[in-house]
Amino acid sequence: MAIVRRKFDAVIVGAGGAGMRAALQLSEAGLKVAVLSKVFPTRSHTVAAQGGIAAALGNVTEDNWHWHMYDTVKGSDYLGDQDAIEFMCRQASEVVYELEHYGMPFDRLENGKIYQRPFGGQSQNFGGAQATRSCAAADRTGHAMLHTLYQRNVQANTQFFVEWMGLDLIRDEEGDVCGVTALDIETGEVMALQARATLFATGGGARIFSASTNAFINTGDGLAMSARAGVPLEDMEFWQFHPTGVYGVGVLISEAVRGEGGYLLNKDGERFMERYAPNAKDLASRDVVSRALTTEIKEGRGCGRDADYLLLKLDHLGADVIKTRLPGIREIAIKFAHADPIHDPIPVVPTAHYMMGGIPTNFYGQVVAPYKTGPEEVVQGFYAVGECACVSVHGGNRLGTNSLLDILVFGRAAGNRMIEDLKKNRHHKHLPADASDKALARLSRLNDQKDGESVAQVGDLLRKTMQTYCGVFRFPDMLKQGVEKIGEVAERAMRTEIKDKSRVFNTARVEALELENLVEVAVATMVSAEARTESRGAHARDDFPDRDDDKWLKHTLYFREGQRLDYKPVRLKPLTVESFPPKARTY
Ligand SMILES: Cc1cc2nc3c(=O)[nH]c(=O)nc-3n(C[C@H](O)[C@H](O)[C@H](O)COP(=O)(O)OP(=O)(O)OC[C@H]3O[C@@H](n4cnc5c(N)ncnc54)[C@H](O)[C@@H]3O)c2cc1C
Repeated sequence: MAIVRRKFDAVIVGAGGAGMRAALQLSEAGLKVAVLSKVFPTRSHTVAAQGGIAAALGNVTEDNWHWHMYDTVKGSDYLGDQDAIEFMCRQASEVVYELEHYGMPFDRLENGKIYQRPFGGQSQNFGGAQATRSCAAADRTGHAMLHTLYQRNVQANTQFFVEWMGLDLIRDEEGDVCGVTALDIETGEVMALQARATLFATGGGARIFSASTNAFINTGDGLAMSARAGVPLEDMEFWQFHPTGVYGVGVLISEAVRGEGGYLLNKDGERFMERYAPNAKDLASRDVVSRALTTEIKEGRGCGRDADYLLLKLDHLGADVIKTRLPGIREIAIKFAHADPIHDPIPVVPTAHYMMGGIPTNFYGQVVAPYKTGPEEVVQGFYAVGECACVSVHGGNRLGTNSLLDILVFGRAAGNRMIEDLKKNRHHKHLPADASDKALARLSRLNDQKDGESVAQVGDLLRKTMQTYCGVFRFPDMLKQGVEKIGEVAERAMRTEIKDKSRVFNTARVEALELENLVEVAVATMVSAEARTESRGAHARDDFPDRDDDKWLKHTLYFREGQRLDYKPVRLKPLTVESFPPKARTY
């Protein structure tokens, strides 16, 4: 069926920090760029980032990028690719200063320099004393950053398609990418956006879990579009559970609270992190702290009637620090936990937060996948950055404040790479005749389905299944059953019906399409998790409690077709410095 087509030099799906950083690079170079977003750009999830951006500026304690690199490699439980990690940590100071010059309103120290706070897993001198590395604007760093980037993009004439949803990637018969199909959410119109370069910056997908810090729009659309187009997904078993989500609702209480001096207590009033991480205590890496909380609850030391949460205490910081450095946290605690942290501790539980895996890329943002002739090749015309991509700098576990850094460094790198590639690829490739067939078929199935189940019901089941069968600790029988159960959910999702077709702005339709995407992400996660028979980073198996470097120092690749898995080695060789060989990881 013929649909409207529009041509751009580059199309970017996603207007969070990653998409906007890349867009800025392209627009400033005079290219014609379209940026699509399901929501108004400044409502992207980057806006919710609280704690900060990591960069070894050394404004508070002595620091350098090499120490930052060591911490990131160790934090990743040695699954991160060390060349990409070096690339990121070396550029950190530069991208932060660049942002400062764009007008980002960082907090300041007395001497006028950018304010920095300590975060988990940050050390001086390769594992020594706590470092102070996270550059912050109170507890609203992402908000400040996203608005800064949006304003710069407006100035550079980036063209935004607001409330547009990318549906499917368009690949031609050679496998090259030539654009996306997209839905105008308000009118229901479907369009093909043709481009010489297509970048996915669609953010995370932690909405596959029922307890999640993520925005409702974080449904892993970019991953699902890639998987449907034959691109594998990397390391999908690795999901970060943040130790401190508000009990019962999941809203995030930033690690900045512990960075500023807050700590965790069990029902006996004990600072239990001292037992699990004698040195770093409450500022151990997130996977370590989340497992500690889960163990405390499991062993009966949780608080409350059902002994199912722990307490985060910060009243000793004093009202002034709380009001100036953590004003947003205080607001969240009062609204969602009915606790004013100036007087009362906040009830918390581990909550799904961040996706370490994603679309496989190199550190120029180019998507690398089996293609044409080789097993690892750059897919022509296709790029991915931000949380939806797997570079991989976070490996098995991301350190706090390394994600805002990731989106700046790789957003810029991808933008630069696209500019170079566009100079060479001067002509648009022909759109295949069936470019929009897949997307239209999915939409017409939804329109025509009768007597189907409700999207909300199947969505609930999906989230509960993931939470129960693939949470902080993973059990052998549960993983096996989980694969079957999520398979059943996937089948049911193909028979959902939009119950209330009268709802405005096609919201119901968008939710149904998002459910299909969540299914792709959930199945990839469950299948990859069941196969990895070791514990590494955020993937903690009850039956294989140890890391197994002989067998598993490798990345998982999940192929949607036949739910097949393949593996590729971790890149242990950095760009210029010595490698950090795997060793036991303690905090
Ligand atoms: C509550 C919270 C606090 C955090 N705090 C920190 C922190 O302090 N420091 C840190 O480093 N990291 C933090 N993180 C992680 C970090 O914020 C994110 O990983 C990062 O901001 C992701 O940026 P992004 O640009 O990749 O995606 P996002 O900011 O999530 O943007 C995704 C974009 O894609 C668009 N999109 C998605 N699907 C489609 C589609 N199908 N069609 C069109 N558009 C689409 C969305 O509309 C949106 O514009 C936090 C995360 C959360 C949830």
